[in-house]
Amino acid sequence: MTAARPALRIHGATHVGSVREANEDAMIVDEQVGLFAVFDGMGGAMAGDVASQKARDVVKEYVRARRGQMDPRAMLDAALNAASAAVHGEAQVRRDRRGMGTTAVVCLLLDDRRALIAHVGDSRAYLLRGGRLNQLTRDHTVVAELLAQNAITPEEAEVHAYRSVLSRNLGAKPDTRVDITEIELTRGDRLLLCSDGLYGFASTEAVQQLLGSTDAPEQVARDLIELALRGGGGDNVTVVVLEAGAAAVPRTTQLMRTSGSVSWWARRERFFEAARAAGVAQNPICAVLSPAEAIEIVAGNFVEALFHDLEKATTVNVWTYAENLAHGWLDRGGAWAPLRLILDILHHACGQVVADVRRDDADLALLIEAAVTRELTVCEMAVGGVLGEQLRAVDAALLKLYAERQVASEARAPGDGARPFVEQPTMPFLRNDRAPEPAGPEVRPVLDAALRVAVGRGGDAALHDLLTRLHRLAVDASPPAAVTVQARELFGVRQLEERAIAPVFDALDRARRALVDAISAGTAPPSAKVAAVRQLASASHGLAASMAGLVVEAAQPGAHKLREVVRETAALRAKVGKTEARVAELERRFATVYDPLAGKIAMDQAIADVGPSRPSAPGILARRRPGRETQR
Ligand code: CA
Repeated sequence: MTAARPALRIHGATHVGSVREANEDAMIVDEQVGLFAVFDGMGGAMAGDVASQKARDVVKEYVRARRGQMDPRAMLDAALNAASAAVHGEAQVRRDRRGMGTTAVVCLLLDDRRALIAHVGDSRAYLLRGGRLNQLTRDHTVVAELLAQNAITPEEAEVHAYRSVLSRNLGAKPDTRVDITEIELTRGDRLLLCSDGLYGFASTEAVQQLLGSTDAPEQVARDLIELALRGGGGDNVTVVVLEAGAAAVPRTTQLMRTSGSVSWWARRERFFEAARAAGVAQNPICAVLSPAEAIEIVAGNFVEALFHDLEKATTVNVWTYAENLAHGWLDRGGAWAPLRLILDILHHACGQVVADVRRDDADLALLIEAAVTRELTVCEMAVGGVLGEQLRAVDAALLKLYAERQVASEARAPGDGARPFVEQPTMPFLRNDRAPEPAGPEVRPVLDAALRVAVGRGGDAALHDLLTRLHRLAVDASPPAAVTVQARELFGVRQLEERAIAPVFDALDRARRALVDAISAGTAPPSAKVAAVRQLASASHGLAASMAGLVVEAAQPGAHKLREVVRETAALRAKVGKTEARVAELERRFATVYDPLAGKIAMDQAIADVGPSRPSAPGILARRRPGRETQR
């Protein structure tokens, strides 16, 4: 009934996943009618697939029978309500199907330029336009509804106990409320319908990368499924990819996919040589690997991932590589610096390869350089994302700790109101756009006295300089800009090498410890001491983060875009540092306040004790090989 649409290319794919035994997803790919849909069933033993298949059949029949005779919007609404009634009816008949239901996300093409998107539940529709992925549907989950009403914050939503509980589905009741929107399609647009088995196990960025590749929808659908499986494949996964006319592929992209990728691969030995010379094997991340394994795993997988990315005009493989590398190291308590160094080595080795290509073909070298810069930017973003995850985990631990302490506090001193450390340990203090809280009047004398004591204990000029700076920043509760100015003064015109930079960080740490010791040994009331340590921690972390940012910035004279991302990463790193210090501080206070045996406050020791532990498990990388799982 609908004319063929030569401009459109569509493909749907579904997979049971790596964990589930049955596939409870269902889909419609009906090019003749212009109807596409994904259903994600739920319910007891085997009822989920009954629900999703029933809904699929009803919707398909309904639309086939009435297309052209009904207003399309009313027709979709009625079709989904008919499906809900049918699923609900079946659920009433058999006890083992009680409570079954299904989501639905449906796309109905009105003509070559317009489509209706209808949905119920948390299966989603996304539109990729101009390389950007936009979510067209809002999940019908309890948490999403609470969020829309501003009843909870996005941070609370992420950890909410009901985050996957649907607020609407087909089958719970005979009728349902359907959200329907109309969209315009332009040439090059790609529309994606999917179940939560995709977006629950793949990052939005990776989905965007794959959907934005120049491959045909069939290949993209396969790659998306593969992506979800790589992410754990914890659920059934279903995708329908619809392309509104292939986007014109620039000639340069075509060239990169052929000559560029071949040229890159041909020079992999050059890359290894440069990486070897730059000391990959000596990096702490490779401590458990032989030099040959270090090259194979760290450099080899990067080269391979980049090759596949060039070939497919995506960046998803390098993204996965960087995420794995960062997780493998940071999740086990690894420090930031070695990771930073590895990224720098990869950057350097890329430069050597590009220089090598340039000797033969300057034009191609330029193209490869642009592509590689993009890949390195993606590495920075992926690592930044991992740091962000850690930040959220630390924040969750902080909240838990705070809640436990609050409970203990109430049990201990019911109603006496004397809770010296009550505060709001929620996200606001993590926002870097917020200036630090000014210290109360009782804090200044504590900090002044600590400075006098610390200076009186001697030390070199660098230490004294930092004692003074830290004291000033802590007293003034300086805004980020002032901290940056201080960092720039400290950083000065140093050479970018370990010997020039490391002493500044060492001195900063010594100054912080000296001041904390002095505060701890002083006679001020505990509440004033804690407030003073907090001001100091904030000043010290701000300064360290700012300086680290300057180092990273100066060490990365790459593209503007790259520097921008590096700055963002530095900001994230600063946040992680702050939060870690905060957790340490709270834990220390918890122990101080509630352990009657704890006499003198060994503040700095306590802070050191709860700091990030060193990785101890061998085979960090061996067990989690980065980039191995490249395309197929
Ligand atoms: Ca699912």
